Amino acid sequence: MKSKLTRQEPIYDYVYFDNEICRYEDAQIGLASTSLQYGFNVFCGIRGYHINGQNYIFRLKQHYQRFMDANKIMGFGVEITYDKFCNVLFELVKKNQIVEDFYIRAFIFTPNTHLAPKQHKDVYQVSVYMQKLSSKFDPQKGQKLQISSFVKYSDNAISTKAKVGGSYVNSLLASQNAKLSGFDDALMVSENGYICECSISNIIIVKNNEVFTPNLSDGPLGGITLRSAIEVLNYNNINVNYISLTRSFAYSCDEMITTGTALGVQKVNQIDHCELNLQKNEIFTLLYNEFEKIFSNQHELSKKWLSKVV
Ligand code: PMP
Repeated sequence: MKSKLTRQEPIYDYVYFDNEICRYEDAQIGLASTSLQYGFNVFCGIRGYHINGQNYIFRLKQHYQRFMDANKIMGFGVEITYDKFCNVLFELVKKNQIVEDFYIRAFIFTPNTHLAPKQHKDVYQVSVYMQKLSSKFDPQKGQKLQISSFVKYSDNAISTKAKVGGSYVNSLLASQNAKLSGFDDALMVSENGYICECSISNIIIVKNNEVFTPNLSDGPLGGITLRSAIEVLNYNNINVNYISLTRSFAYSCDEMITTGTALGVQKVNQIDHCELNLQKNEIFTLLYNEFEKIFSNQHELSKKWLSKVV
């Protein structure tokens, strides 16, 4: 049976592909492409907000920088200036006539084909699609996390600081296993034995009125929501310490919070068998309320962090 190119997610009609804007259905990549066969691509996921009839993009510069770092780390050699990147995204938002909150997925891939996972001299290009953000995890519900038996790959295996397509098999296996066991997501441990992050989000921990996050050298992605959360806490005169996070510390913490583009900030109410004390939610509540203001353009930091689509 011939499978039709269908869009299962609420993806908008127009995409950026091969240096131009075209319809989703017309952007096709060959079956044998190295990016498809071996996951040789890097991507970024960015949030867009529709506020009072105007579209905004959250922390565009930081996403661009992490995207370009990933391009460099992987040796893809794509050259795209910040102005050009913004221009592509703005044109696409306008072409898609977006009038709701949205999500942007930009990625770098190669249409080249090789039987072996080879990339030397391949030509890589930037593509972008956008979609409606449909599901939002209820922030009051709280997440149940399982410390995963799927170990987070190390930075010497695949960069933990670049969002490499193929590396997400690791996230997928961990989160799938957690969900099949009745949890919402996986808490992943790095090869050095420390807890580093969830499948697609970073973590913040609170214990005895001090706030912590895992050392970047223990394997988590340098999350832009995490960085923003730290800046929001600093803005409220709260310091965040970087630590190597042990299982015991996680089980006995007062609060755990997850941060990421997909789900924003979420509180955690259970890690494995350990229930957290949900009465102690001060840092989560502060972050949640501050982010709600930021995302609706009602915070001093909104001016800095929301780029107006023009
Ligand atoms: N860790 C991983 C592995 C991720 O994929 C993501 C999502 N990009 C995050 C953390 C959170 O990063 P950000 O806040 O930039 O979305």
